[in-house]
Amino acid sequence: MKLDRKKILLVYPLGYSAEAAGRDISRIANIMPPLGIASIAAYLEQRGMRADIIDCYARPDSDRSIRDYLLAEKPAFIGLSCTTSSFLDGIRIAQLARHAVPGIKTIFGGPHVSALKELLFPRFPDMDFAVIGEGEETMYQLMQEGLDDPAAVEGIIYREGGDHLFTGYRQKPLVLDELPFPAYEKLAGYPHSYMLPIFNYPRTPNSSCISSRGCPYSCTYCDRSVFRRSFRYNSASYLYEHLSYLKERFGIRHINFYDDQFTFNRQRVEEFCGMMIERPLDMTFNCAVRAEHIDRELVTLMRKAGAWMMSLGIETGDPELLAQHRQNADLELLADKIRMIKSAGLRTKGLLMIGLPGESEESLRRSMKYVFSLPVDDFNLAKFTPFPGSPIYDNIRELGEFDEDWEKMDCMNFQFVPKGMTREQLGQLFDEYYATHFKRPKVLWQYVTMLWRSPDSWIRFARNAGSFLKFAWTADRLKA
Ligand code: SF4
Repeated sequence: MKLDRKKILLVYPLGYSAEAAGRDISRIANIMPPLGIASIAAYLEQRGMRADIIDCYARPDSDRSIRDYLLAEKPAFIGLSCTTSSFLDGIRIAQLARHAVPGIKTIFGGPHVSALKELLFPRFPDMDFAVIGEGEETMYQLMQEGLDDPAAVEGIIYREGGDHLFTGYRQKPLVLDELPFPAYEKLAGYPHSYMLPIFNYPRTPNSSCISSRGCPYSCTYCDRSVFRRSFRYNSASYLYEHLSYLKERFGIRHINFYDDQFTFNRQRVEEFCGMMIERPLDMTFNCAVRAEHIDRELVTLMRKAGAWMMSLGIETGDPELLAQHRQNADLELLADKIRMIKSAGLRTKGLLMIGLPGESEESLRRSMKYVFSLPVDDFNLAKFTPFPGSPIYDNIRELGEFDEDWEKMDCMNFQFVPKGMTREQLGQLFDEYYATHFKRPKVLWQYVTMLWRSPDSWIRFARNAGSFLKFAWTADRLKA
């Protein structure tokens, strides 16, 4: 069968059986567009390649669509962008593709392969190539010359004879302002098939968007294998144009900036806000910030420009535990900044973790006391998961019991249990954390105010009340 070397199908695997997707509470609550492969698709198309996308997370039952596409279009490549929990599903899709179209080359990308690199190749014969690091230019060069001369393509792992070779990291990072906007139009049903977390937006349609790559910090639990320690960002004017495009082309009215550190470069945020104030787009936005990179003057300006909610990584309210895992572990500063953001009129969201190495019942109780003393409107409590590529992964087995079952490594399962604790104890404290949050009158009132601040969230809540209540009751993501 003759395959087209200028064509690729990019797939974002679901990570578990399609039949379970309707019961997955985290999927019901939040479906984010796969911005990484949408950016790669736009880059490839700009250079004369044809790239299409099938997002199995947004459309779970997609095996038939993948097979039909491959048989009709006969692309020479299929690209699979995988997290740790979706990697084995990616392998399953690669097998399906090779069976449907013999000779097709599989290319794996995403954090899991960037973290584990060559280690995956002996175990998974269905991997032909892996892209290590950011994918746009590497994928383009791989499609152009990778079949004839893979050694000439920076940033890939390829097979040769019975061996596999890494060509090394790409030397020249991409200039983000030179990238086209992601190919949102290639995501079926965009923007309506995607949803931000419930109660995290004032209006629809809404979307996530990325305006920077990388983070200069090195928290022990964070995998930064794809963008590593660099911090690169779009200029204010690029960002403003990007939002205007989303507004004009898709009618987007609210943006969730998915950047790790939206305010790390203060000047760019000031310029961006100035543009949003002088030439309003009638859009609002959320972003994540670190306490060191936010102050009252900036928050006031951002609020004027449309900021609606800010998330802050708290992780734990136990100062000693926090100091073991990240730099500048100043909980007083963090508390002051959260109060300041709230008093400026924004919603605040705390990002928390349970079960870090060193955790104990006492540290968890200290954490709850701290968090519930703050004006945090919403929070996300992740079950600590030691991802490949995070600094702590290398010696994690010395710090507790680790069941490295990739499919369950999605921050919704206790795959790691710190020394001195049990899985049952963690489960009970997790339930108590959420229950205490929802029982506080102030918090309940905040959710009531969402009736007029985010009416669509209440409609979604009502539609999926069974799943949400079941989660509140069992804290189990895929409860049968
Ligand atoms: S957790 Fe946040 S601040 Fe820490 S390294 Fe990761 S992205 Fe950076």
